[in-house]
Amino acid sequence: MPSLPKWIANGTEVLFRSMMHPVEVSQIEYLDDELKRVRFAGDLRSTSYAPGQVIEFRVNDTEFRHYTPAYYDQEEGICDVLFFLHDYGPGSQWADTLKSGDTTKLMGPGGKMRFQSEHQHHFIFGDESSLGLCTMLKSEVNEQQREYLCLLELDEAHQHWPELVNLQADVVTKSDQHPAREAVRWIQEMQGRLWDTWQQAVFYLTGRAQSIQAVRRRLIERGVGAKKIITFPYWADGKKGL
Ligand SMILES: Cc1cc2nc3c(=O)[nH]c(=O)nc-3n(C[C@H](O)[C@H](O)[C@H](O)COP(=O)(O)OP(=O)(O)OC[C@H]3O[C@@H](n4cnc5c(N)ncnc54)[C@H](O)[C@@H]3O)c2cc1C
Repeated sequence: MPSLPKWIANGTEVLFRSMMHPVEVSQIEYLDDELKRVRFAGDLRSTSYAPGQVIEFRVNDTEFRHYTPAYYDQEEGICDVLFFLHDYGPGSQWADTLKSGDTTKLMGPGGKMRFQSEHQHHFIFGDESSLGLCTMLKSEVNEQQREYLCLLELDEAHQHWPELVNLQADVVTKSDQHPAREAVRWIQEMQGRLWDTWQQAVFYLTGRAQSIQAVRRRLIERGVGAKKIITFPYWADGKKGL
């Protein structure tokens, strides 16, 4: 529910009270000018969470936006989010204003994406908005002794961001005009033993909707089964609040 009239947004908060968890900002950290890690603390014991799931915040009177925990612990009552502060809309602007001591309500968790623990190989594709998901999936992969390969399309100025969150990733440059052009080429160039191994993976595609479509198309052309490709668009050109 990205955008609602104010009175309906207020009503929604009342109606879905059991899914709204009061939290306080307990830590903030600017990892870079446009990358901010925020820790939310509160009583999350009544929530159930699976890695890959997402949460939602009301970012102003009428709008809600989704985010992906980079870390979530029900018992400790902690949820970390990595916000990309692109400044294009109210979600990004709200995240930039967050400071220690602010209070808000965390909605969820929910959503269709889940870590697929039965697979040995996990291929994660995304962009700046996917860093939280990548961090979370990496933790699961390490804990369950699986393997991951992370491919991120990032603006040139952000190509060092994976290191800032201790993520091993292959990085390609984002193109405004040609979504996923370099990512598709990168996938096409996977050959031999590398491709034999990774084509068996489960694929998590997030970030820009148009890039996801392009990468998914190429994976299918290369013989990856559609059921092994999980997609979750995080934003789309010209579209507000997915
Ligand atoms: C399930 C889900 C999980 C998400 N998890 C995260 C997360 O963990 N961290 C995070 O930072 N974001 C995450 N996002 C994306 C986040 O919700 C977007 O930043 C949000 O949609 C943009 O909100 P906004 O109000 O700032 O801009 P909007 O009002 O939604 O959009 C305004 C304009 O900005 C453009 N735009 C939006 N996002 C981007 C972008 N990333 N790059 C370039 N242009 C953009 C839109 O195309 C539109 O033209 C997630 C989104 C979804 C759906």
